[in-house]
Amino acid sequence: MTGTRSATILRVKVEASNGRGALPTTVTGRTNIRAVLFDLDDTLFDHQFCSRAGLAALQAGFPSLASEPFDAFELRYRVLLEEVHLKVLSGELSPAAARSERFQRFLSVAAPASLADAARAAELYATAFRASRRPITGVLDLLGHLKAHVRIGVVTNNVRREQVEKLQHCGLDRLIDVLVTSEDVGVAKPHPAIFRAALEQLACTPDQVVMVGDNWENDVVGATRVGIRSIWLNRYAEPHPDLTLAPEITELTPLEAVVALLLGEVTSRDAARGS
Ligand SMILES: [Mg+2]
Repeated sequence: MTGTRSATILRVKVEASNGRGALPTTVTGRTNIRAVLFDLDDTLFDHQFCSRAGLAALQAGFPSLASEPFDAFELRYRVLLEEVHLKVLSGELSPAAARSERFQRFLSVAAPASLADAARAAELYATAFRASRRPITGVLDLLGHLKAHVRIGVVTNNVRREQVEKLQHCGLDRLIDVLVTSEDVGVAKPHPAIFRAALEQLACTPDQVVMVGDNWENDVVGATRVGIRSIWLNRYAEPHPDLTLAPEITELTPLEAVVALLLGEVTSRDAARGS
């Protein structure tokens, strides 16, 4: 954890395009941004990669699931995960009870599954998930660079213990100044209270912060509602819901273009095109 930093002089060179050909842009100026907020799952941490590894292990371990096409299998799991996870966020289920319910229901599509089956499935999934944990490409470089200029916060919908483990495993914990989880605040994104908690801990006003996340509603709409400028990380080429609300980036590289966009020193369109 570090103390409050003042505004910083930045020198960032961005190879951007203005639609009339390459336009090298040198950005030199004083930024107003004092902190960058990130979502964790599928923004800093490659949750989808881990989840796919877990699902592959599940199909390998349960012959009754082996014939289901992987895309349908994954979609069915994601829908169920989202549904049961809401019960964790609301406090209705503990993470352990949710895990058991999730896997029992997931397996029961073929034939009624026992609690023992659910426990074996949870173990197979968790082992493969944990072995696959990794940050999103470019995250270590990006946070390492940003840390010299601004404070870094993470705002995430999950229990703290799981998210701290992910950050530690990926070597990101040393780069994070503030971690705010839905468990800490008692509400989940997109609720304004979780963003306000982050602002308070960072000692920043909304105009001094920028939010980056992959979930349009939770991250972009949620942050925008409390006056925080946001950037949508759209790694899977989803249709953009509202270009007036936030610019999109498709990855966290190249470093210079992403930093310039985050810190607000070039127009979003130029920075995005430069990536
Ligand atoms: Mg996310």
